[in-house]
Amino acid sequence: MDSPAPLNASPADMPPRSPALPEPASAAQQGFIRHTAHSPEVVAVSPGRVNLIGEHTDYNAGLCLPIALTQVTAAAASARTDEVVRIWSLDIDRHAAVALADVGEGKPRGWAGYVAGTVWAMREAGIPVGGMDVVISSEVPVGAGLSSSAAIEGAVAMAAFALFGGSIDPDDDARRTLALACQRAENEVVGAPTGGLDQTTSLLARPGHALELDFRDGGVHHTPFDIAAHGLEVLVIDTRAHHSLADGQYGKRRAECEEAARLLGVETLREASQDQVEGLTDGVLRRRARHVVSEIARVEAAVAALEREDFAELGRLFDSSHASLRDDYEVSCPELDVACEAARGAGALGARMTGGGFGGSAIALIETSAREAVEAAVRSAFAEAGLGEPNLFVASPGAGARVVLTTAEPQ
Ligand code: ADP
Ligand code: MG
Repeated sequence: MDSPAPLNASPADMPPRSPALPEPASAAQQGFIRHTAHSPEVVAVSPGRVNLIGEHTDYNAGLCLPIALTQVTAAAASARTDEVVRIWSLDIDRHAAVALADVGEGKPRGWAGYVAGTVWAMREAGIPVGGMDVVISSEVPVGAGLSSSAAIEGAVAMAAFALFGGSIDPDDDARRTLALACQRAENEVVGAPTGGLDQTTSLLARPGHALELDFRDGGVHHTPFDIAAHGLEVLVIDTRAHHSLADGQYGKRRAECEEAARLLGVETLREASQDQVEGLTDGVLRRRARHVVSEIARVEAAVAALEREDFAELGRLFDSSHASLRDDYEVSCPELDVACEAARGAGALGARMTGGGFGGSAIALIETSAREAVEAAVRSAFAEAGLGEPNLFVASPGAGARVVLTTAEPQ
């Protein structure tokens, strides 16, 4: 019998250890065994994101500049021989079983639609997938504007792709196809008319990089994002607020943009100039379009500022993006405004809401040395305003969706 390694063993004497799985991946793996009495054939993870700048521009054929988070959602899965998707979410303690034949426009709505809808949309895109058992576990805050929805879709898409004969490490073209299927699930099955920003980021991100996304031509450019080397970081302020008017307002903004484009005689607001927009006679449409056109220009300016390492300018662009979203697009709320003002007051280079708005999260560009002061200022501003405690953390640019465990032979 082997004697156990001595307590003072050097690392070379220690038994080899398997590489650590992200926490949600081992939770999903364990949950899968508990619920099905089998080990999952594959475990995949996909990240949440913060959009640095370029808000409400994706569905206007515009530009965005997101980073993926290191926080992920995991899907542990095995194929089934029937056409049923059985789903457990450990986060909300719910179970659902959905026949693929019953999935389509508007069904099932709610959380199961994100999972079954993704499998359905993959099949609609010609990817051969079938029934599966899936267990979900996530560390992306849900409904916080950090895209837990694209994270769950991306994890399911990667797992399903690996299970049914696709690669366990799909190339960028395959990832784009998966991202489109995820977006279709969210748009058609769940019924949320979001653009492609979230899914593209979750599927295509690379560690240490931001993504310059161009929704006119589908361009994806990976740009190094190493602000830590300059003593800076992105502080995420999850306000934990969710205002229920968010749901209808998103579709309303989208329709207003389409109407503004129609009145200006352009296909999308990407084609409109600031001067043209100022000529719109309807005040609401003029402000909506002004936000979109000016925000696209701010993304271009932010990319240029990053290139020349002008972080003061990047901060100013965050501030003007927030003002535009608050005043022209009208998607901010008191919690987001308080978060941004408090962060700026405590020395942040700039701050803005991120994500769709009406609650969710803000981001502040801060000096690492100022983190404690900014955090304290935000917390006390929330307390003074009678708001609930925010959740604060530093975002670092994480990797895109990936398979982290597989028992099947790689194809
Ligand atoms: P966000 O993407 O900003 O987190 P959304 O409203 O777009 O907010 O998506 C949140 C919804 O996605 C949840 O209400 C739920 O239906 C679904 N969802 C996300 N993550 C999970 C999860 N881990 N388990 C179950 N459902 C989830
Ligand atoms: Mg979402």
